[in-house]
Order: sequence, then structure tokens, then C-alpha cells
Amino acid sequence: MLTNRLTQLAGAMAEHQLDVVVVVPGANLRYLLNVSFHPSKRLTLALFRRDGGRPSIVIPTLELQGVHEHLGDVADAYQWTDSEGPSSALLEALEQVLPAQRARVAVEHTVMRVMELRALEDAGRQLGVQLEIVDATPLLARMRMVKDVHELAAMAEAARIVEAALGKTIAQIKPGITERQLSLICTQEIMAAGAEGESFGNLIASGPNSANPHHNVSDRAFQPGDLIVLDCGAIYRGYASDITRTVALGEPTPGARAMYDAVLKANTAARDFVRPGVTGEQIDQVARGIITAAGYGDYFLHRTGHGLGLEINPCHEPPDLVARSTEPLAVGTTFTIEPGVYIQGVGGVRIEDDVVITEAGCRSFTTFQRELLVVPS
Ligand code: ZN
Ligand code: ZN
Repeated sequence: MLTNRLTQLAGAMAEHQLDVVVVVPGANLRYLLNVSFHPSKRLTLALFRRDGGRPSIVIPTLELQGVHEHLGDVADAYQWTDSEGPSSALLEALEQVLPAQRARVAVEHTVMRVMELRALEDAGRQLGVQLEIVDATPLLARMRMVKDVHELAAMAEAARIVEAALGKTIAQIKPGITERQLSLICTQEIMAAGAEGESFGNLIASGPNSANPHHNVSDRAFQPGDLIVLDCGAIYRGYASDITRTVALGEPTPGARAMYDAVLKANTAARDFVRPGVTGEQIDQVARGIITAAGYGDYFLHRTGHGLGLEINPCHEPPDLVARSTEPLAVGTTFTIEPGVYIQGVGGVRIEDDVVITEAGCRSFTTFQRELLVVPS
């Protein structure tokens, strides 16, 4: 599995005329070498070669403890201790991979820190090689967009875990409980269901707060008549799920039901539309068209969905389901579908699922009830 990825990376490097790709701790390093480190102030860098040969990793000795056996299989370690500092390990590793005089080096523009970039540039100077630094993010993002069977299995499990937790969380909704209390319950249920962590800080938005798609959890207590938006996710084997359901506490108003019906129709139509070759823009248009036809077009405040995998942030994990996202999507691409309607002073509805493009169309990892759930008040 990792060998395939390294071969694919070498191919992409040749295509983009890159001599070295440098990856720091984070999702890309996990993807390429199956090791995960937290970024620390101690320099850790993996260097990938254009010839597809064994990558090198510059790594603090103390970080080697947990990963030594596995890492030895996939990369050459250039370790350094606190008393030595990283400079000579980095020089030694770079010397092996840099061509003479000039090198095109790709780094992760949105992840690498100044500390790491300066260390690279200094080492290049000392070796007498002029470095042309370019962005590795698009190339790595493109590789990660299409998932293999192992990744899809992890994502399915991440969805199963969060749905088990969501059911238990919703069962504890009653008047008087606050958003913050339910948020804590949600976190505990996600961990109890077997997650390695939450994909992001869960969002609980009730009553008028539900009209804010990015509401920060508050101390507002639930009241009969509220719409309550629950948005949460679980991580399993590094892969994230991300689900939203909106429930009503007691019988909702006809207006709230109408909003809900429009969003549910948009979610269903968008999932039905997904098949190999569609673009993010087209999926967005399907969902947006239905919400607009129902009269809520001005209240659908965000894109229809985002890429999902080792990360949920759309700048790192394409595709984006939004206008101008015109690349045809291939089988194995995973993303969310999450139309919503948000009306200030009234409330909001969002229904979010995690899907993958299949030969036959679309499979949704998330299957939690989508019809409006009315919790007794
Ligand atoms: Zn979400
Ligand atoms: Zn989402």
C-alpha cells in the first residue's frame, strides 16, 4: 500500500520536475509513511526522492522510540539528540537526495512552519545548492483525494462510531439541558463508541443559535419548540467522519418543517446525483437549485460540501462542492454533502452525510435517520 503511494509520488514528481518533496509531521506524512507525530519544536522532516528510492527522515532520537520498527521498514532515519541539534543530521540527509547546484524542492505551503523552511534553506546554502521552493500541497492533495479500500474501510468505521454516539446523544436531549452540557455528552459518547478522537470540536446549536452555521457552543438551555443542530465527527485509524442532523424538541412550527423538508430534499437529490465524472460545482448546483426553488436560496449560506479523509479542512482535503469546482470526480473520491438553511431570528437546519463515489453512483457511509426526528418535550 505504501509502496504504491511512493511510486505514485515519484511519478508526480517527475511530471512536475521536482527533485525532492519535503513533508513535515501531519496528514501527508501519515499518508506516505504511516507514521504520525505531533508537530513539535524539534525538527522532523521526511525527504522523498524523485527516483522513488527509500525516503529519508530527519528525526529526534526521542521520537524514534515509538516508531522505530515500522520506520526502519519504510525510511532511512537520520536521528539527532537534543545535545547535538538537528543541523548535521539534516545536512547528511539532504546531501543524499539533492542534485548539485540547483534543486526544485516542494514543501507544504499551508503546513510547514518558518522554522522548518529556514532549516532547509540554511542546509541548502551550506551544501552550495540553490533551492527553488515550490508548493507540494496540490500534488499531495490530488493523491489523497481518491481513497483505497483500506481508507474506505476506516472511513466507514469512523461513520459507524459517530452514528452510535449521535443516537445516544440525541436520546439525552430534554428541556433545560444546555448546549454545553450536550456537547460534553457528545464528546464522551464519541470516545466511548471507540473513536481515537473527535474530528473537530462538536457543534451544538439550539433555537435562534441554530441560524448560525458556525455557532460556538453556549450555555443556552433547550426549550420546547427549538430546532437543535448537532454536527460532530469521530476519528478512526486517522480517518474522519463528519455528520450533522437537526432535531426538533417538541412539535416544530410549520415554518420549521418547511425549511427542514427543503434541506432534506436537497440532501437526497445531491446524493442521488453523485456518480463518476460529476464535478463539485454540479453537485452544489443540484442542492442549491432545490433550496432556491423552495424559496430559501438566500439562506443557504455555505458550500454544499467538502473533501473528507485524513483531514476535514477543504484547503487540505479536496474536493470542494462549490461554484468553480469544475474537475470531474473519480470513483473513490470522498466528501460531505451538507446543504443547510439559516434564517436569523428563526433558526436553521443542516443535514450532512459522508459519501464516496462508486462505479454505480454513490455510497453514503452515514445512514442515520434523515426524516425529522421530534424529541418529546
Ligand atoms: Zn459537519
Ligand atoms: Zn462538514
